[in-house]
Amino acid sequence: MRYFKVFLTLAIVFTAYIGDFIVFRSKYSDSLTFRAITDSLVHASLGFLSSLIFFSHDQNLNLHISGLNVTFCTIVSSLIDVDHAFVARSIYLKDMINLKHRGIFHCTTFWLLITSIILLYSYLEKKLNLYLLSFMLILAYSSHHLRDGNRRGLWLYPFGSSPPIDKNLYLFLLAVLPHVLACVYNIGKSSFGKSVTIDYTSMVV
Ligand SMILES: [Zn+2]
Repeated sequence: MRYFKVFLTLAIVFTAYIGDFIVFRSKYSDSLTFRAITDSLVHASLGFLSSLIFFSHDQNLNLHISGLNVTFCTIVSSLIDVDHAFVARSIYLKDMINLKHRGIFHCTTFWLLITSIILLYSYLEKKLNLYLLSFMLILAYSSHHLRDGNRRGLWLYPFGSSPPIDKNLYLFLLAVLPHVLACVYNIGKSSFGKSVTIDYTSMVV
C-alpha cells in the first residue's frame, strides 16, 4: 500500500503539471471548446486522484462505498465550474470567458463555511456518512481552487483575493492535502466508536 500511495502522489503532481500544459500551452489551446473540455477533465482527474489517495489510508472501507465517494468527489471537482454559466447567464463558452468576477462555487470561504457546518454537525451527531461526505467536498473544492489559484489566487470573500499561488506550492499542496485530510478523518473517526459502520442502504429512497 505504501508504494500505491507514492504512485498516486506522483500521479497527481504529474497530472496537474501535464494537464496545465495541455490545456493552456498545446497547439489546440486557442480553441475554447478544447480548453473547456480538457480543463474539466484535469479538474475531474485531480479530484479522482485526491480521493484515491484519501482512501488509500483507510483499508477498512469496502470497495462499493469507496467507489461511490470517489465518483462523488470526481464529479464535484469538475462541476464547480458550472458557476461560470451562472455568472455569464449563458451556456455559451464565448460568454463565459473574461468574466469580471468569479461565481460562488469559486469562493473558498463559501466552501470553508459549508463544509465546517456539515463536518461539525456530522461529528456531533455521529453521522459517519455525512462526515465522510464532507471530506469528499473538501478534497473536491481544495483541488479545484488550488489549481485555479495558480492563475488567479484564492477568493476569500469578504477579505478579497490572495495573490496567485506559486506553481511549486500549488503542486506540493495538491500532493500533501489528501494525505493530511485522511489522517484528520481517521483521527476524528476513532471517536465515532467501533460499532459505527457506513451504511448507504438507509439513503436509498
Ligand atoms: Zn474553476
